[in-house]
Amino acid sequence: MDDPARPADTKPGAAGLRREQEQKTIHCSRLGGTVTLGYCMSPAQDAPCERIRDCWWQFLDIDRYLAECLGPEGLLELINKPRRDRLGIILDVLKELGVSR
Ligand code: SF4
Repeated sequence: MDDPARPADTKPGAAGLRREQEQKTIHCSRLGGTVTLGYCMSPAQDAPCERIRDCWWQFLDIDRYLAECLGPEGLLELINKPRRDRLGIILDVLKELGVSR
């Protein structure tokens, strides 16, 4: 969003706005600490955290932000992606690490 108090010649472009938004922080209930939006966009993986829309909707127009970053198809893919519960996440991490029973 444009800051009306900022002179026009110092207003950031879309990329600058995105970088500003990536620095915003919230408390992550999953990690128990403060994280940036930039972290939530790629937490130890190439895709955004599956909870990003739930965590950020109160702080910015997250769907618009995601559509700008991922494209409309990417946003739809994120919305339609099946959710994993905590155990599913742990099992996926163990599988990625090559740990078997
Ligand atoms: S989107 Fe994921 S990493 Fe970011 S605050 Fe929410 S649960 Fe934590």
